[in-house]
Amino acid sequence: MKLARVTKKGNRSFHLEFLMMTLLPLIVCGIVMMVVCSGSVRDSMTSEAEDNLRNVALLVLGSYDEMYPGDYEAKHENEEFKLYKGGQMLSDNYELLDRIEQESSLEITIFYLDTRLLTTLKNSEGVRMTGSVAGEKIVTEVLNSRMARFYDNVSINGTEYYAYYSPIMSSFTNDCIGMIGVAKPATELKASIGRSVNRTMIVMLLAILITSFFITRFANELVTVVKFMLDFMKKLSDNKLDAKLDARVVQREDELGEMGRNLNSLQIALRRLIERDVLTGLFNRRSAEKKIDVIEASGVRYCVAIGDIDHFKKFNDTFGHECGDVVLREVAHLLNDCMNRCEGFVARWGGEEFLLVFVNTDINGVYDALMIIRQALHDKDVVYNDQIHKVTMTFGAAERVEGVPINHLIRAADDKLYEGKQGGRDRVII
Ligand code: GH3
Ligand code: MG
Ligand code: MG
Repeated sequence: MKLARVTKKGNRSFHLEFLMMTLLPLIVCGIVMMVVCSGSVRDSMTSEAEDNLRNVALLVLGSYDEMYPGDYEAKHENEEFKLYKGGQMLSDNYELLDRIEQESSLEITIFYLDTRLLTTLKNSEGVRMTGSVAGEKIVTEVLNSRMARFYDNVSINGTEYYAYYSPIMSSFTNDCIGMIGVAKPATELKASIGRSVNRTMIVMLLAILITSFFITRFANELVTVVKFMLDFMKKLSDNKLDAKLDARVVQREDELGEMGRNLNSLQIALRRLIERDVLTGLFNRRSAEKKIDVIEASGVRYCVAIGDIDHFKKFNDTFGHECGDVVLREVAHLLNDCMNRCEGFVARWGGEEFLLVFVNTDINGVYDALMIIRQALHDKDVVYNDQIHKVTMTFGAAERVEGVPINHLIRAADDKLYEGKQGGRDRVII
């Protein structure tokens, strides 16, 4: 019997789908995280720089207040403005600014309105950039609006700076006298932000790669298990009932392992259904024929015997069909027990006939074995409806002869059985 193939494989791969299902969200999540993380690294470093610049600006203004208490004032002297604080001239007094510049590597500028009066900024010739003016945007947004501001791209003399500007107010008139600007070269900070972003990206990329590796391994393992089960089911549906399911499947503790164990039970049930006789549990005629073919092909010495229950019809006719079934089951059980002690097997050949195959035994050995079975039958009580029934059988046996087909051998055994029936039953004829 060929079992019908239930499904054909479609063109979609479970493996690919499984990988897509697990890897795709990871990759998408990873990319989003990389973008978000690098953005926040950039933001936090920029805001750290802003804090640093603001603190230095406050430090300079605080130091001036401490050293020269009083208001800021600008005076026009010798065609240029000079800045005073508390009556002390700040212009040309670079002690404080140069010291802070050396300690912090930041450029500090004090503006009178938009013009640099004191600055640590120097041009390409190394001359302080006093007298130069702040950009229009800074003048509008800081000086005119009297608001402190941070910029991440101020160009001064062709160089990019991160800069913080804060207005300087007169404490008497509340006028805006000028500004203080603290700047840091952008290239340095940008390089350091770039390094941090790259580090973050590399760490995240590594995390994604390692996770992907484990997901792929895990997916491969699951898919392999599913493929093992698929192959096994294909073999079963191709009638290869001896197929073995890979041990790695049944050893699993999870649902796949349970599926594997259920498949094994299914195989056993299927084999039983196909190979065994339902009433007695013995091999049926079809599987007996197959087994003899295998024994024949192996070239070993063997004999066959056919046993038939004597006057079996009377059990059916006198006590009912159910009683006949009980007798059949009990006899089958006894024959199977006896054959378990020999090399070979017993099968239900049909009705109340049984085929016994003895491997590696000559016909005399078979005779002895059958006589033991005959005696065991004599000793056995079959109980049905509290009544004891005695059963006898007649056996005919024949030894395999080289070149003689199997059906001839079975017919020879059958002939001997007939001889036994004719001779009065309850006997063994070889
Ligand atoms: P003999 O000694 O010559 O073998 O006589 P017998 O009565 O045993 O032989 P016969 O061939 O006349 O009868 C066999 C009977 O077995 C006929 C059939 O109804 C019965 N039989 C066949 N299969 C089953 C079965 O599965 N269950 C039962 N209860 N009876 C069965
Ligand atoms: Mg018969
Ligand atoms: Mg009979």
